[in-house]
Amino acid sequence: MNIILLAPPAAGKGTQSALLENYYQLCHISTGDLLRDALKQDTEEAKELKEIMAQGKLVSDEMILKLIENTLTTSNLKNGYILDGFPRTLKQAIDYDNLLKKMNQKIDYVLCLDIDKEILKKRIVGRLLCKNCGAIYNEYFEVSRPKEEGICDKCGFSLIKREDDNEESFENRYDLYLKETYPLIEYYQSKGNLYHVPFADTPNQVFEEIKSIIGDKHD
Ligand code: AMP
Repeated sequence: MNIILLAPPAAGKGTQSALLENYYQLCHISTGDLLRDALKQDTEEAKELKEIMAQGKLVSDEMILKLIENTLTTSNLKNGYILDGFPRTLKQAIDYDNLLKKMNQKIDYVLCLDIDKEILKKRIVGRLLCKNCGAIYNEYFEVSRPKEEGICDKCGFSLIKREDDNEESFENRYDLYLKETYPLIEYYQSKGNLYHVPFADTPNQVFEEIKSIIGDKHD
């Protein structure tokens, strides 16, 4: 089973991917994570990439396609996978369709997470990340604030902000989403495999909505 998660920045794609990964034993492929790994290299290309990502701009379609093709052809994905953050442009979606044809594979579900812009902004601007264990907190929402300011509840390491988690970058990323990624909803709707996942208060409630779409068909 192959799934695409389609949603604006900070809609919870990472969290839902982890829940899907665990429940359906799928592999989680996040282009954002793959790119952040690539940033660790000490090359000119990595410096350029860092600049693009910090400004909330999109990395070139060519580079992303190479990254995806490489991941899909070299990883063990026998149970299927969840794509988180890809495709993000119509060109990426069309090239990805061609790649799927070549690999004799298909996408089963395109899940669109519906969520309000103001909630997204708070999620991004307030997001804090543990640099040791990866736990995520938010200074704007009481339920997800760390008990001690700036310190991870789980492992005691200090919390950091992702470089691209600021208001200017959010507005850029949201505008880009509307311009480049939102049209994919219609693209997949016309192919007949798009499902809207309504907003809910907690990640588990959102996941229940997802299970009500996928669960019955695979139990
Ligand atoms: P994310 O973790 O999905 O929010 O991605 C972080 C950043 O990586 C984005 O703001 C883009 O700069 C870049 N990125 C991730 N996925 C893609 C993609 N499919 N196409 C272009 N840029 C991407």
